[in-house]
Amino acid sequence: MTSIYNLRTGIGYDVHRLVPGRDLIIGGVKIDFHLGLLGHSDADVLLHAITDAILGASGLGDIGQLFPDSSADWKGANSLELLRYSHQKIQAAGFSIISLDSVVICDRPKLLPHVPAMKKNISDVLGLEVFRIGIKGKTSEKLGFVGAEEGIEAYATALLVSGS
Ligand SMILES: [Zn+2]
Repeated sequence: MTSIYNLRTGIGYDVHRLVPGRDLIIGGVKIDFHLGLLGHSDADVLLHAITDAILGASGLGDIGQLFPDSSADWKGANSLELLRYSHQKIQAAGFSIISLDSVVICDRPKLLPHVPAMKKNISDVLGLEVFRIGIKGKTSEKLGFVGAEEGIEAYATALLVSGS
């Protein structure tokens, strides 16, 4: 029987700048928009937050340690592959994901129509049922840098179990 002492929670946060001339990729979905997220990899803000949440829960560090910006290996990387690799690391350390939840803060474009495809991408990479994956889009009410369309931020939590 699983002891509650084998449960671990993790939190992840990420932000990327919105710029012209880049694809907007969130949750592994390319979304049609006149701006995209800037970063060393594909800058998938949601997948980076989720990756940090599972790494944090398992005590395996963070995305910056596993995939440093200084490494040419991860330049332009598909963040679904970063998530896949991180999941393999936590599995090797004896952890399984029970559930994920997340919030993406973004006024435009509307994310809701894309959420089913995002959940499917994450479900496929992690081998985790879709009902265990939460993704919510929230607007900033036009406040701050998100409201000014200068960037998009994301938060994620993960619940993991070890040794079962
Ligand atoms: Zn990132």
